[in-house]
Formats: sequence, C-alpha cells, structure tokens
Amino acid sequence: MSSAQEEKLMTLQDQVKKLQTQKDKLLKELDAIEEQFEKMNKLYQKYFPVILDTVATSDTSFSKVCRQLSLALKKGDSHGKIEYIFEQLKTAMLKEDIGSATGKKKKGLFSSFMKGDSESFIDEYKQSYHDVVNNLRSNLDEKYDSKLDTLTARIKAAEDTSDISDIRESVFSLIFVYISDTNQDREKVSSFVREVVGKILDIESKLATTYQQTDSMFQSNEGFELVLNSELKGLKQTSDVAASLDELKIQVSQRLASIEKALGKKQATDRAIREVAEKNRHAFKSGFAKLKLELDEATKYSEELEKKLNQDQLTGAFNRRAYDKRIEDEMARFLRYGTLFSLLLIDADKFKLINDNYGHAIGDRCLQEIIKRTLPLLRKNDMLARYGGEEFVVIMPETDSNGAKEAAEKIRQTIEKIEFLYKKDKVKVTVSIGVSQSKEGDKNYQQIFERTDIAVYQAKEEGRNRVLVN
Ligand code: GH3
Ligand code: MG
Ligand code: MG
Repeated sequence: MSSAQEEKLMTLQDQVKKLQTQKDKLLKELDAIEEQFEKMNKLYQKYFPVILDTVATSDTSFSKVCRQLSLALKKGDSHGKIEYIFEQLKTAMLKEDIGSATGKKKKGLFSSFMKGDSESFIDEYKQSYHDVVNNLRSNLDEKYDSKLDTLTARIKAAEDTSDISDIRESVFSLIFVYISDTNQDREKVSSFVREVVGKILDIESKLATTYQQTDSMFQSNEGFELVLNSELKGLKQTSDVAASLDELKIQVSQRLASIEKALGKKQATDRAIREVAEKNRHAFKSGFAKLKLELDEATKYSEELEKKLNQDQLTGAFNRRAYDKRIEDEMARFLRYGTLFSLLLIDADKFKLINDNYGHAIGDRCLQEIIKRTLPLLRKNDMLARYGGEEFVVIMPETDSNGAKEAAEKIRQTIEKIEFLYKKDKVKVTVSIGVSQSKEGDKNYQQIFERTDIAVYQAKEEGRNRVLVN
C-alpha cells in the first residue's frame, strides 16, 4: 500500500470514527428525546383526562372534543389520532372564544354549565315577590300602602338569598297583621290568605331546593374558570411558540401544575361552600316549616272565626248575618240569570207559652231540636238559618214553590211529632211555615221575605201548625 493510499485509508477510518461518535451521540440524543417524550406522554395521560372530564360537562362542541380527547388519551391512541383531536380542540376553543379575556362580559364556560347564573336566580325570586306584593296591593286597603311601598323598594334592592329571606319574613308578618286587623268578610280573607300563602310556599320551596346555588358558588366557579381558561390559552400558545421540546415540556408541566392547583383550591372552596349552603338549607327548611305551621294555624283560626261569625250560638244553625249574605247572592243570581229559588219562614207556634209553662231552658232545647230535626230533611244546597228568636228561614236554591211547599210540609210534620218530657208533661211544639218563590218583577229579596211573612201570619190566623204558600 502506498503512503498516499495509507493516508487516504487513515482519513476514511477517521471519518468513520467521527461518524460513529456522531451516530452514538445522535442515538443518545434520540433516546433522551424519546425518554422526554415518554415522560410527556405520561404527564398528558395522567392529568389531561382529569381536566378534560372536569371541563367537558356541557353540550358544546368544545366539550365534545374534550371528551373525545380524554377517551383517546385514556386508551393510549396513536399520536396521529391525538394530534388530530388536538387540532379539533384548537378550533373548538377558538370558536367558543375561550380565554378571550378582553372587554365585554361573556358568558363563561362554567356559568353556561349552570342552569342559570346567579343574577337570574335572584331575579326570578325578586319577580315572584313583586307578583306577591302586587297581589297584596290589589287586595288590601290603602292603610297598607306605605308598608307595601317599603317592601317593593326592598325587593328592588335585594341582592342575595338572605335579602330574599328577610323579604319573605316581612311579607308573612304583613299578612299576619292583615289577618288580625281585618274587619272584612272572613271568607274572603281566608281564601285570599290561602292564595297568597300558596304562592309564597311555591316560591319558597323552589328557593329551598335550589339554595345550594349560592353567589359564592358561582364566584368560586368563575375563579376556577378564569385560571383554567388562561392556562388552556397558555397551553395552546405554548405549543405554537415553544422553541424546543425542553421548553415545551417545562411550560406544559408548569401550566398543568397550575391547573391542578386551581382545581384543588376550587374543590376545597366548593366543599366549604356546600357545607355552609347545606347548613343554611337546613336552617331555612326548619324556619320554613315553622312558618308554614304558623300560617296553617292562622288560616285555621281565620276559618274558625269565619264559622263562628256565621253561626248561631244556641242552635248551631247559620245566623242572620250568614242568611243576609246568602240571600243577597241568591237574589243576584236570580236577577241576572233568572235562577229561581224559594224561601221558607218557620215560626214556632205559641212559643211564649212553652217558655211560660216549662221555663226558658226547655224553650231553648225545643229550638235546638227543631234545627236538629229539620237539617236532615234539607238538600245540600239549602240553607237553614235562625232569623231571630223562634223564627227560622230556609233558602232553597233552584226550587219552585211546589217543591218548597212539599219540603215545608215534611218539616212541619216532623216537628209536630217531637215529644219532650218535662216532669210528667209531654212538651209538644208545632210550627207555621210561610213559603214563597222568587217571581218575575221581584226587585229585592225583602219582597220575597215579606210574602213569606204574610203567609206565616195567615197560617197563624188559620189555626197554626200549617204551611201556606204566597
Ligand atoms: P205565635 O204562635 O203567634 O208565633 O206565638 P209566639 O208566642 O211564638 O209569638 P211571640 O212573637 O209572641 O213570642 C215569641 C216567643 O219566643 C217570645 C220569646 O220568649 C220566645 N223566644 C224567642 N227567642 C227565644 C230563645 O232564644 N229561647 C227561648 N227559650 N225562647 C225564645
Ligand atoms: Mg215569631
Ligand atoms: Mg212564634
């Protein structure tokens, strides 16, 4: 081999050596890169599905892609597929404008997960209470105006659920004041109270079940959302601008750590909020149950009062007040629709004598017995009332004088058969009954009553214990 050849060989061997070292170096670098890549992969597989599943709870295209990505990562799908889904995620993110923190208030990722945001939640109750107060305004008289004005102002200013609870208390106390104050018709009062209370109960039960959606819950979600959005945006930019794999790895892991931290913080805050909300909810529910009980009692009391106001104490029959109201209604119906009705006037015969002979107590018992025996002879819609003293009236809706006469005759015969024993005497009572039906040309119910009164007078004239129609 010539020296020139030898030299050439040396150079070649040198080059091969160099190439080999270079190759080893490259292979080492490749190993390192692969190792880094493997680490990265593990990092992605560990954190991404958790984050993605947390984020992807809605029906937006972003959420859908998140779920796809999460699944692909969990399954360990090919790089090609994951890269493709990443590309889609980028598009979806841009579409939803995630992380665009600029300017106008956008509906954030988390607020869209909730059924409504906190403002509309409070607004809904404010609106409901406005309705309740308006309802009260149109039903209560002027002296409640200033109280209702104050309530309206407070509803307008209400900012959170505790304000709403205070307003509820005030509405209830206003209703209580109204119940105890009122001199109006009890029947109207109790049905009105029932209506308003029913409405409040509706609102409140809704409030009780959605009480967990407190303002602070929304704030916590918003806080987390901000971090998440900015970190996701950061991630996106990082992958675009990272100069080297090392830089990418560092930045990605930093951002993931930041997301993880925010997530942990959010979970802790959520837990605390949930605990407070749960406590509030219990307090609210028990307070609410107590109020409901009080209202039930107030309504019951109002109904009892109403009953008492319409009831005759001695006989338990309706009293004159109830009769006046009912006959007015019946007359109005007759004048408007021509629905006829009949009226009976029942007058105990020689009742003074009964008192004189046997005493007032026996007289009282006779009156009670007359009612007790008459009631079962009447129809459900008939009304038996004590007109005064030993006189009773029966209003018979949709009954003409023939039907009324028949009923009156039954009453007369039934009472005739009653026998009281007083010492050795048998006490007998009879009644005279005047019957009249509403007639064309009648202007008011007094005209009908007068006819029954005349009929009673005639019955007395003709010997008592009889029924006469007029
Ligand atoms: P007539 O057949 O003409 O109706 O005779 P009468 O005695 O029933 O009529 P009058 O109007 O003269 O007297 C009614 C009597 O009814 C007088 C009163 O003592 C009696 N009376 C009125 N209210 C009551 C009451 O609540 N209890 C008792 N025990 N008696 C009463
Ligand atoms: Mg009389
Ligand atoms: Mg009498």
